[in-house]
Amino acid sequence: MRRRADHAGHLRFSLPRELGGRDGDNLAMAIIREHLAHKGLGLHNDLQNESSIVGNFPQVSLLHRYGTQAQKVRFLDAMITGKESVAFGLTEPNHGSDATWLETTAVRDGADWILNGQKRFNTGLHKATTDLIFARTSGKPGDARGITAFLVPTTSPGFEVPFMWWTFNMPTDHAEVRLTNVRVPNETILGAEGEGLIVAQAFLHENRIRQAASSLGAAQYCIDESVAYARKRIVFGKPLAGNQAIQFPLAELHTECEMVRGLVHRTAWHLDRQDHLEVSDLVSMANYRANRLVCDAADQAIQVHGGVGYSRHYPFEHIYRHHRRYRITEGSEEIQIRKVAGHLFGFMGPSRTDRFRSAAKQGSESPCGEGPPCGGRGRNAE
Ligand SMILES: Cc1cc2nc3c(=O)[nH]c(=O)nc-3n(C[C@H](O)[C@H](O)[C@H](O)COP(=O)(O)OP(=O)(O)OC[C@H]3O[C@@H](n4cnc5c(N)ncnc54)[C@H](O)[C@@H]3O)c2cc1C
Repeated sequence: MRRRADHAGHLRFSLPRELGGRDGDNLAMAIIREHLAHKGLGLHNDLQNESSIVGNFPQVSLLHRYGTQAQKVRFLDAMITGKESVAFGLTEPNHGSDATWLETTAVRDGADWILNGQKRFNTGLHKATTDLIFARTSGKPGDARGITAFLVPTTSPGFEVPFMWWTFNMPTDHAEVRLTNVRVPNETILGAEGEGLIVAQAFLHENRIRQAASSLGAAQYCIDESVAYARKRIVFGKPLAGNQAIQFPLAELHTECEMVRGLVHRTAWHLDRQDHLEVSDLVSMANYRANRLVCDAADQAIQVHGGVGYSRHYPFEHIYRHHRRYRITEGSEEIQIRKVAGHLFGFMGPSRTDRFRSAAKQGSESPCGEGPPCGGRGRNAE
């Protein structure tokens, strides 16, 4: 699929031109990902392993943005074609949401670093050639600074996968990883020493909005399939669709899709124009609402389809199983809501409303730096 999609000119759409892409922006990617997920399950967009004919390459973006010249030469093209695969190792047995408390350490030894620790749910390690390991190199538990990202070859002595986790989605590629005196050269650092969380956040923000768009498309698919089924399924001698108890939940979900679509598009538009950290609350809103929506829509689709809906002959239980994970993995729902609250109450920097007020006072045309459609301006207009 990857080879054919690349040949057809779709795979690299989101990547910069120098990597053979078309500079596809976040808004375009949101629309495409919604469209593909709206087509239902298939090789065109196999959400289970996060592959799609229009590729989402968060790790490639990271390497492109933060990599040294040598790292770019080694990884970029190889990652796109699948020769190299880089996993993301942040979560640990004792720390997930509170990643700044991670316990994995890296200690300098001449021109090398020695890594020790453990990682959990390290997705993709069944085929990863390299693992992006986040380790504390300075500071104390809880400090955002002092965490460094290392590109660790999975064949390094001391790098072990004791087991893979079985999850709701069955046998999976989510590894437990043990690092015992793993030695890597200084050149394996991605980004600046001690600034690994900036790398991690750039990964998460771009991924979160794309995930939201996929969830939205899959939600709309569940709704549309349910409407079509209810119209043709005859129960008590009449189409099932004639019952308001069937219509109303689907009508409400459909309304929610329209609202979430507006939020996803607007957030993607902002991400294309502003630093991702400035709009992280919008990204969180879009992500948690879209992921919750698809779970509700898949659940409702199972209900409308009755017994066959619960079966594996229909796609809804698969969609539910897959998207349920999104409510935990890319920063859980609570952590996203916490971020929204942080911006709202101003304990994660000045609130969005305060920023718009201060921009308005200074007579700036638009806090986004450009004219319409600056949604934030509309939302906070006084
Ligand atoms: C299928 C799957 C794939 C994954 N892939 C990766 C991967 O590739 N790389 C990687 O690094 N990690 C990965 N993860 C790990 C994932 O990022 C973590 O599971 C997630 O960040 C939550 O951390 P935790 O499981 O330790 O839960 P905890 O942090 O222990 O939290 C437990 C619960 O408490 C809630 N909670 C925590 N703090 C608060 C608070 N302050 N207020 C209210 N509620 C709170 C959380 O939302 C959660 O519901 C994956 C996980 C899964 C299940």
